[in-house]
Amino acid sequence: MSEYELSKKEADSLTAWFDKNKRDLPWRGTGDPYDVWLSEIMLQQTRVEAVKEKFIQFRRELPDIISLSEVSDDRLMKLWEGMGYYSRARNLKKCAGELRDLYGGVLPSSFEELIRLSGIGPYTAGAIASIAYGNPVPAVDGNVLRVLARLFEDATDIRSGRAKKNCGEIICSFYRKNPGLGADYISSFTQALMELGALVCVPNGQPHCEACPWNSVCRAHLNNTAGRIPYRSALKGRRIEERTLLIIRDEDRFLLRKRPESGLLAGLYEFAGYDGFLSRAQIIEETEKLGFSALHIRRLPDSRHIFTHLEWHMHAFEIMVADIDSVPDGLLLTKKELAEFAVPSAFSKYISYYSLKD
Ligand code: SF4
Repeated sequence: MSEYELSKKEADSLTAWFDKNKRDLPWRGTGDPYDVWLSEIMLQQTRVEAVKEKFIQFRRELPDIISLSEVSDDRLMKLWEGMGYYSRARNLKKCAGELRDLYGGVLPSSFEELIRLSGIGPYTAGAIASIAYGNPVPAVDGNVLRVLARLFEDATDIRSGRAKKNCGEIICSFYRKNPGLGADYISSFTQALMELGALVCVPNGQPHCEACPWNSVCRAHLNNTAGRIPYRSALKGRRIEERTLLIIRDEDRFLLRKRPESGLLAGLYEFAGYDGFLSRAQIIEETEKLGFSALHIRRLPDSRHIFTHLEWHMHAFEIMVADIDSVPDGLLLTKKELAEFAVPSAFSKYISYYSLKD
């Protein structure tokens, strides 16, 4: 989308529309960066109407960054009550402590300094820098993504990082080509993009193009495609991983290996597991790498295991080997011992297969 350009005329019409139509919100126009920060964090997961009252209460009791840094955790949770996602409140307090220690209780004005603070990501840093300080940096939220996608009739998936990056570049390019815009203009422009998305270029149903300052230039409106732009891909399902399990055993005992100390099933024991579906030759090779020579290989039933974001599709093979004396980084368990051992449920099908609990 970055080949698209926003003209000064379009930006002027948008800011003029904003001046006339902006909502009266308690954090708007106070000139205090603390208000911009607080409201942006509160608005991240909560509706404007629900935030308004909370914001006033919060602001009354904690009028500045120093008081926020010193509030007790209990009181903070009470003030946040009803808004959910309590980690936002904890991060606010943590960040207030950093601001007290590093900046004398004042929010810095540069994007680069802001983004280093706890709980402040690129969007919030951009919002504070541009709305509170009038710095020419983008703040791209869902509203801005939608509005610009429609303006340029761009079908890039708005879930993708590319869409966000492209929108940021359009705004940066606009600022580069129009140096010398005043801080008030920049502050209004950032808010106007968001406000247009919230009030006019709405996400669900048809946008209110008749009330939009861009309706004579908006490509989605002119081509009647606003109903299908922006494009948003379906949420990805679980990732599927193919695995091969080698159940290496001798007459009496089964081999288990410890998984790495980090990641999925960290530190737990499993049958020897490998990424992908191994061929017979690969199975023999991997068995030899473990120091065994396969006497007999038998295919076992396939199985699946579902984790939250991941699904294992497993092929399994029983590898009968001669007597196993010892294994350097594994366990050798009899059927009975295995039945009592905490093997992850991903492998329960094979535990049952051997009727190990009998
Ligand atoms: S004209 Fe319609 S689709 Fe285009 S930006 Fe305005 S409200 Fe959105």
